[in-house]
Amino acid sequence: MPQANRLELIVQKLEALARDAQQLASGGNGAHGANGAPLQRAIRVLPLTENETEVARQMQICNACRYCEGFCAVFPAMTRRLEFGKADVNYLANLCHNCGACYHACQYAPPHEFAVNVPQAMAKVRVETYAEYAVPSFMGALYRRNGLTLSLALAFGLALFLVLGIALKGPLFGTPLAGNFYAIFPHNLLALLFGVVFVLAVVSLGIGVARFWKDASAGAASGAAASGAIPEATRNALTLKYLDGGHGDGCNEADDRFTLIRRRFHHFTFYGFMLCFASTVVATFYHYFLDLHAPYPFASVPVLLGTLGGIGLLIGPAGLLWLNIRRDPARGDAAQKPMDRGFIALLLLTSATGLALLAWRDSAALAWLLAVHLGVVLALFATLPYGKFAHGIYRCAALLKSSIEKRQANSLKLGSE
Ligand code: SF4
Ligand code: SF4
Repeated sequence: MPQANRLELIVQKLEALARDAQQLASGGNGAHGANGAPLQRAIRVLPLTENETEVARQMQICNACRYCEGFCAVFPAMTRRLEFGKADVNYLANLCHNCGACYHACQYAPPHEFAVNVPQAMAKVRVETYAEYAVPSFMGALYRRNGLTLSLALAFGLALFLVLGIALKGPLFGTPLAGNFYAIFPHNLLALLFGVVFVLAVVSLGIGVARFWKDASAGAASGAAASGAIPEATRNALTLKYLDGGHGDGCNEADDRFTLIRRRFHHFTFYGFMLCFASTVVATFYHYFLDLHAPYPFASVPVLLGTLGGIGLLIGPAGLLWLNIRRDPARGDAAQKPMDRGFIALLLLTSATGLALLAWRDSAALAWLLAVHLGVVLALFATLPYGKFAHGIYRCAALLKSSIEKRQANSLKLGSE
């Protein structure tokens, strides 16, 4: 065959392949390929953002290197892939928790020309994930100006309760009310306000994570794999397994040394938050089912849970803030500092104002302290789906997918698992 004809044939075949790819990308079930055979699978091919492209590039390098395989769940998951599409990149980015181990160990980190900095690249994609799956979608913009978002939410929460308190009770400094919060803000008003905000936050985050899950694991999870994976993923999330660096000595903070301190402060924060939540649940149960109304004595279950939780929520966020300030800036995304520190500050304010309220609940400052505490808690609840809190939820989904994936056959047969 003459050279020109052969070239024309190659071009025609390439054009036919491109048409097939376009039909697949547009999700056209029932479409037929250039050879007349039906195109079996409909896949979503979405363009990668600049940050996602950078993660994909670095994962290609890591996939050839594999030095960091034992550090965390990201690298074993990476070895199951040869190419990294949008869903893969989003999944891996949320599986990473920015421990820094791979950056400090990397021989290809800057100033090497490969410029591999996995924690930084992953951090930039993570925040894009939260914004992309935010519900409603226009609220995704709040991640970009998160410091401002948290400040405005806090100002609004404080103003609302201070004005409401004055409207309902008059001056907020006055006669002691023996710790009776409901003499200032009626119980039903608080239950309705916080109930609505909390449910909206849960629904918004829940829908966002469900959409992330659908994209990240499309068609991947069989029932058997999922049932075995759930306990493992729960254990990994509750123990923060991957903050041990993969060798038990912990992750890196300011330099090459390993430390478990970040894991400890995360635990104080998480379990402090859960104890405070448990305190609220028990108090609600007392109120509605046992007809026992606040204020509860210091030795009661709600107050003990709240006090322990408040102390945990004081130690944990204070430690995380200290670590955040000391952390090697090269491995993070500087643009996210307001989001990280703003969320930590809100947690700190929540526990500090809660404990102050408990300590001075029999004083004339009760109404003022209560208004401030409620304003802070409202700001925290309202911004849960649009700030750093999303990290915990998306990470749990990524951990579950990782545990499911481990139980499935690796079609590449190249991995290390
Ligand atoms: S981070 Fe660096 S050392 Fe680790 S696997 Fe990737 S290229 Fe290799
Ligand atoms: S920063 Fe830590 S968690 Fe993230 S990929 Fe590197 S080793 Fe894994």
